[in-house]
Amino acid sequence: MSGIRVRIAPSPTGFFHIGNAKTALINWLFARSKGGTFILRLEDTDTERSKPEYADIVCEALKWLGIDWDEGPSFRDEPERGAYGPYRQSERKHLYLQEANRLLKEGKAYKCFCSKEELDAERERARIEKRPPRYSGKCRNLTEKEIRAKEGLPYSIRFKVPPGVTEIDDLIQGKVVTDHTEFDDFIIVKPNGDAVFHLAVVVDDGLMKITHVIRGDDHLTNATRHVMLFRALGYELPQFAHLPMVLDEKGQKYSKRLHGANVLDWREDGFLPEALVNYLVLLGWTPGDDREVFSREELIEAFTIERLGKSPGKFDYKRLLWLNGQHIRKLTAAELCERVLPILRKAGFDVDAFPKEWLIQMTAICQDRIPTLNDIIGYTDFFFVEPQSYEEKAVNKHWRKEPQNAVQTLEKIRNMIEETSDFSHDGLKATFEQKAAAEGVPVAHFIHPTRLALTGKSVGPGLFELAALLGKEKCLQRIERALAFVRTIEETKI
Ligand code: GLU
Repeated sequence: MSGIRVRIAPSPTGFFHIGNAKTALINWLFARSKGGTFILRLEDTDTERSKPEYADIVCEALKWLGIDWDEGPSFRDEPERGAYGPYRQSERKHLYLQEANRLLKEGKAYKCFCSKEELDAERERARIEKRPPRYSGKCRNLTEKEIRAKEGLPYSIRFKVPPGVTEIDDLIQGKVVTDHTEFDDFIIVKPNGDAVFHLAVVVDDGLMKITHVIRGDDHLTNATRHVMLFRALGYELPQFAHLPMVLDEKGQKYSKRLHGANVLDWREDGFLPEALVNYLVLLGWTPGDDREVFSREELIEAFTIERLGKSPGKFDYKRLLWLNGQHIRKLTAAELCERVLPILRKAGFDVDAFPKEWLIQMTAICQDRIPTLNDIIGYTDFFFVEPQSYEEKAVNKHWRKEPQNAVQTLEKIRNMIEETSDFSHDGLKATFEQKAAAEGVPVAHFIHPTRLALTGKSVGPGLFELAALLGKEKCLQRIERALAFVRTIEETKI
């Protein structure tokens, strides 16, 4: 292991957002590509909004994406791991108070006794005078005697912002220089004893020996405060890298309300985690060559922090869908089968009544065609249940226009199927091709009505493959059913 230590610190206040997933992924790739340590830390200090079930959702989303953590909190039956725990902020309150008290003792922070009413009035004055709302610094220089006189009163702890400027060499944003006059003495511990985010995050990063803080650029404006605190607390300063946000297809911040904002929506929609990982990385990182499809291992191999971009990535559903297809094709048929079986079971199909080998073949004939795992349902449902209806548009095209001819064609198809002794893809193909040649028609003339009769649809896996898997007996039954159906069309027409 190298000395590199990175972390993600999501707040478990809802689902795991796609933007968090991208941040997690970049941190994880950085750690994995450098032999570093990737840490999961839950920022659950907001007791009203944080819930244990949300923490589970964060962990589950990470697990689904294959982003494994080296150190982090317990999850289901997995114990907490790592030497720098606990990894939940709610269990680290004593550390924040200990460090805040140290700052107090060292004269780098002070107790502020100003009441909420006083502070509100101060803010209101600033608003009327069109000044930025800043704390006046009233309690900054209280004497020992004055402080003693206020003993027993509620107080917050404020950080004494030192004079000067902070310069951050952000690995993505470049040099960011901020004058400290832009800040007032900010609160680090509230009167109820709770640490404020800025203190908690710095104490955690300092004590956990984080070497690189890689997070969303919505935290860039916090970074100066954090650097000041790092210095005051005497911790080693990490390097910062602030990643641009993920935008939706319209170029707006990816709203929590949009479908897909929740990482696990993509699982529901039949996307492979490896495709989402591939896609999210490419939203903010370029490989430096024209490759687009990467496995996790290839990403780890190719990843460098230098090629992370500064401009926000706009979500492109079509590209994600395309990548999903590419990753579906990269699996072995047996692997893909394992992934689609639960989906088929959930859809109510009795897949377990079929031999494994047959199920793998069924998956294989769809592998080049399905864009998402969920599409397996529409591509294979007819194997499990007889088509209940025929696609209207295809019926009009192949059967309704000239029902008499359609009946004749279906009869020829029935005979062909009956006569095919080698009921394999090749055997069926040969029969159909010979017949088409003999009749002087394109083979499509027989293929489309057969597909409609066997599957009820106009798209699906290759006809000869699916017919072979369905078996002669079922094929014949379905052709007979289609014949009966077309005959009723014919009769009602007359
Ligand atoms: N809890 C913060 C967030 O979810 C993370 C802060 C940080 O990474 O420093 O945005």
